[in-house]
Amino acid sequence: METRILVLGAGFGGLELATVVSDALGEDAGITLIDASEAFVFGYAKLDVMFGRSAPDSVRLPYSSFRKPGVRFLRETVRSIDPAARRVTTDAGVHEADVLVVALGADYDFDATPGLVEGGNEFYSVAGAERLRELLPAFDRGHAVVGVCGAPFKCPPAPSEAALLLHDLLVRRGVRDACEISLVMPFGAPVPPSPDTSAALLEAFAERGIAFVSGRRVAALDPARGVVALDDGDELSYDLFLGVPRHRAPHVVLESGLAEDGYVPVDSRTLQTRFPDVYALGDVATVGVPKAGVFSEGQARVVADALVARALGGELPEGYGGRGSCYVEFGGGRVGRVDVDFLSGPKPTGTFREPSGELVAQKQDFGASRRLRWFG
Ligand SMILES: Cc1cc2nc3c(=O)[nH]c(=O)nc-3n(C[C@H](O)[C@H](O)[C@H](O)COP(=O)(O)OP(=O)(O)OC[C@H]3O[C@@H](n4cnc5c(N)ncnc54)[C@H](O)[C@@H]3O)c2cc1C
Repeated sequence: METRILVLGAGFGGLELATVVSDALGEDAGITLIDASEAFVFGYAKLDVMFGRSAPDSVRLPYSSFRKPGVRFLRETVRSIDPAARRVTTDAGVHEADVLVVALGADYDFDATPGLVEGGNEFYSVAGAERLRELLPAFDRGHAVVGVCGAPFKCPPAPSEAALLLHDLLVRRGVRDACEISLVMPFGAPVPPSPDTSAALLEAFAERGIAFVSGRRVAALDPARGVVALDDGDELSYDLFLGVPRHRAPHVVLESGLAEDGYVPVDSRTLQTRFPDVYALGDVATVGVPKAGVFSEGQARVVADALVARALGGELPEGYGGRGSCYVEFGGGRVGRVDVDFLSGPKPTGTFREPSGELVAQKQDFGASRRLRWFG
């Protein structure tokens, strides 16, 4: 009998898992893929929208175009998960599964940072990026603070990219001299596993007069006083705040009994949770790697290969290796890359590739190839 595979979340992880299993098993894939949204949006596309490089509509990839043999996509909102029974309730009904894969990503906890909603902006959601797209053209003097409100957060290089792209925008508009830019990060360096990438970013900040405030996170905003409060009690004055909100697993996951310390613990090699035949992967899980699409995708391939092996009786895949490459925008149309390895050695390592025209093309291909593979 066909195994009923229920995949919650059609982001980087869910889309890749469904695609790999469908490619291998065709009409027998037996997958139900559930997502509350109408469309998928690449994380980095939020920067493109915010800085006016892409129109909001052009970055939405509607799930109606995700058609794969053996995969049924349902646009439903997951309301509860019973991992022991592998039973999921949505706003449309109840789904039972032989194998359950939780790939619901990380949500934002805007209220965890007092003042953020009333007095700041965030660029980590599509709605936040769209709002900033309207606001940024009116900013022409004062202090812009790009600030991270808590770790872990998705795509650790993204706040550095935002600061560099903001610099470019202000230069283009001829107002850079009237503005200051500061970047507040909870890490000691912009990309901790790769000293070379961090050094290149610090050099880029110094060349552009961007202040890097390291080892601190934004604790609160006081819009009445125009002040950003840091977790060590220091304050920065601000006129424009571009924030990375605190992250957490979606409520439905926190309430399911799957999560510990905010995310779902899994075996880093197999992505199995403590419940039989229940996997969690990507940003929703604690795997020992950063929260980024490339990692969610890599984990999805491991789970997909295990499910294909289960169906066809082949060999189980090698465990998840924790390696991935992230493209880093340096501004001025320049793109670098960091190749990181989180799990094979005693500590994470990273190799930096200098910005080049070839990497600009590679980044474009990264998005275009997934778009084609998932959405045709
Ligand atoms: C500004 C920015 C830049 C980034 N740049 C990069 C980059 O260059 N490279 C990179 O690799 N990563 C990047 N990322 C990170 C990347 O977007 C995420 O890490 C990745 O999307 C995580 O994949 P996932 O499958 O784990 O979760 P997601 O892609 O977040 O997917 C989770 C899905 O679950 C759905 N969902 C959640 N709750 C429910 C519910 N209750 N019911 C139904 N559906 C639900 C959501 O709608 C969503 O589609 C960036 C992120 C940001 C914000």
